[in-house]
Amino acid sequence: MELHWEDVAGHEAQKMQLRTILREHRLPHALLLTGPDGVGKKKLGHVLAAALLCETEDAPCGHCASCRAMASGTHPDYLEVLPERTGRSAAVIRIDAIRSMQVEASRYPVLSKQRVVLIDDADCMNEAAENSLLKTLEEPEGAVTFLLVTGARSSLLDTILSRCMPLSFGTVPEDAIVRVLAQRGIAAEEAHELASLSDGSIGRAIALHEHEGLLRRDDALDFLAKLPQLDMTSVWKRSQEMGEFDRETLSEWFLYLNMMLRDMLVLYEDGGSSLIYHKDIRARLLALLPSFPEPVIFSLLALVRETQRRLQSNVNLRLLMEGFHIRMRDVVQIRN
Ligand SMILES: [Zn+2]
Repeated sequence: MELHWEDVAGHEAQKMQLRTILREHRLPHALLLTGPDGVGKKKLGHVLAAALLCETEDAPCGHCASCRAMASGTHPDYLEVLPERTGRSAAVIRIDAIRSMQVEASRYPVLSKQRVVLIDDADCMNEAAENSLLKTLEEPEGAVTFLLVTGARSSLLDTILSRCMPLSFGTVPEDAIVRVLAQRGIAAEEAHELASLSDGSIGRAIALHEHEGLLRRDDALDFLAKLPQLDMTSVWKRSQEMGEFDRETLSEWFLYLNMMLRDMLVLYEDGGSSLIYHKDIRARLLALLPSFPEPVIFSLLALVRETQRRLQSNVNLRLLMEGFHIRMRDVVQIRN
């Protein structure tokens, strides 16, 4: 992931303000990033964190050890607290999550001179979690900066709000959204159409575009259905085609496959379960079960997860796809 100020679309005034405060070393130890969903608050939080952890003048420089660790999501001094989302219950950040963050945050930084904690959807903290965080904000231990991100500022305790420097975000101008979409390889005409439907939210524009994602899901389902009879000619053909996809498209395809396999395991327990992701294709998934005994699904899931992991590294995609297809085929056809 790129982490530069320019990678955040729009919000020029906020970026300018932050860069000035950083340059003058006036950044307080807690900030509250508020504004509508999908406008880039968290993205800016990432860049700000990278800037705080980078040691150079023009932070984030993008190439020091700290910046590289941030870009790959492995920075030991950067901590993210996210809400738990289980089933259909509301997302929540519990006191346990805040407590383990506090333990981590109080340790001496490993790579940089300080630590940064980003709490996403901070409004999801329950009361106990908020009170626990409040103590830390009142008496911070060690060198740590807190970034609270929220679309619902009024859900937070006043006492928390009063401890944070507020930074509010508006919507993103249409032309900035068009540029973001273009960078993602979306054709100009569609990008303009999506931007105009997005109501100033990059997240919404992307979600609209990704309804295309349904086509990828259908392809993954089709692949599963054909897997018991898949011949080697098809293996080579598919591997070649998929080797040409970009990593993002492949990641999405594998995510759908992963979710469908997990759905099939749930359906083994209860064919009418409401816990599956893809309720609209329940009948098609149920129809696949006779060709996919449970142990086979577990083996396939392990293979899919391994491939998902390897997709994140710098591998040859064509070779990865070949290995994936051959091994998937072996698991299903040899065991059957
Ligand atoms: Zn750097």
